[in-house]
Amino acid sequence: MQVPPFSLTEQLDALGEQLDAAVLQVLRSGQYIGGGVIAAFEQAFAKTVGTPYAVGCNSGTDALILALRGLGIGPGDEVITCSFSFFATAEAISAVGATPVFVDVEESSYLINLDQLEAAITPATKALMPVHLFGRPVDMERVCAIAQRHQLKVVEDCAQASGASWAGRPVGSWGDVGCFSFFPTKNLGGAGDGGAVTCRDEALAQRMRELAVHGMPRRYLHTELGYNSRLDAIQAAVLNVKLPHLERWITLRRSIAHRYRSQLEAAGSISLPEAGPEGHSWNQFVVRVPACSPTPACNQSCTPSADSASFGLPEACCRDWLKQQLQEAGVTTIIYYPIPIHRQPAYAHLGYGPGSLPVTERLCSEVLSLPIFPELSSLQQQQVIDTLQALCQQRSGSAAAAVAA
Ligand SMILES: *Cc1c(COP(=O)(O)O)cnc(C)c1O
Repeated sequence: MQVPPFSLTEQLDALGEQLDAAVLQVLRSGQYIGGGVIAAFEQAFAKTVGTPYAVGCNSGTDALILALRGLGIGPGDEVITCSFSFFATAEAISAVGATPVFVDVEESSYLINLDQLEAAITPATKALMPVHLFGRPVDMERVCAIAQRHQLKVVEDCAQASGASWAGRPVGSWGDVGCFSFFPTKNLGGAGDGGAVTCRDEALAQRMRELAVHGMPRRYLHTELGYNSRLDAIQAAVLNVKLPHLERWITLRRSIAHRYRSQLEAAGSISLPEAGPEGHSWNQFVVRVPACSPTPACNQSCTPSADSASFGLPEACCRDWLKQQLQEAGVTTIIYYPIPIHRQPAYAHLGYGPGSLPVTERLCSEVLSLPIFPELSSLQQQQVIDTLQALCQQRSGSAAAAVAA
């Protein structure tokens, strides 16, 4: 049996007719830009997040850009975030002319290290951008306390965390702005690109709404330079059908994570993600496969990885070996993310050398995301568990043999 990292087949079987009808209705209405379908989604989404305002836009990346612009962040400003994230987190900061300042993540949670975050604040710092990576919420009480102490804005990157909450309160409702992505593989995915910003401040919501439409408060009056970044009606129609299922889907993700955690505990030689707080939404289930040093002793067939050599990262051979073996057994895994943002060629000018963010760099060489999505069947979950257990046994067996020899 094949176990894909993500699949829409089952969801399309279940919701196909409703989705067809919703899309067809927009198609036949002729109203593709703006209109009631979008307003309805924005209202429903704001309610889910627990903020008075939600504004749809073109993508999660644009949501981050609109948030930063809306808060008046631009050239000369620093925004502190983590480098262990999708590239767009930092790209959005650069897109508004500000400078991303990277701090390391915690090894246990994979999330931004809040001690380092506070220590990195300078007079140029204007905002903090915590990332609820893999659907796990950052401690937003602490982030907000730090922000308040230093009078900084908070932009939450909630792209992977629709449906997640911290201390019983949804992510995206804590900071000044919450930024969401509806990319198809996120917890709430559309049929293409889409995103939204959420906030409590009416004037800020209005400003972001105008920025998303060419800085245009009324037709053909442009008060500032903006973007063309609307959520389109067909996407809103799809999201309207899917949103009522989000909570149930998160529950399913949680139960898969729970099963992986309890049944893989004994596998050894890989480390499992922490259970995390109750509000974890498990967009990804990310295990770690440490490389054995100094040379791959665990398995003679491990080959040094090209990325490690090219980007000055720790050796990733054992992780890469396990990924390949899983693939041969029909289990497709993904590496989020093989190269940290601060080591990307596009950010070479910022001067973060090898070893500058050691935990982030090690994680990039060790992480492997197992298949997790609401419709992943019980049999498929079992196949992931059995295959991984067998491979771990094989691996620790050959490591013992290598030590003995
Ligand atoms: C997906 C993602 C984004 C960008 O969202 P898009 O809708 O693809 O533009 C930003 N940040 C993180 C952490 C993401 O995972």
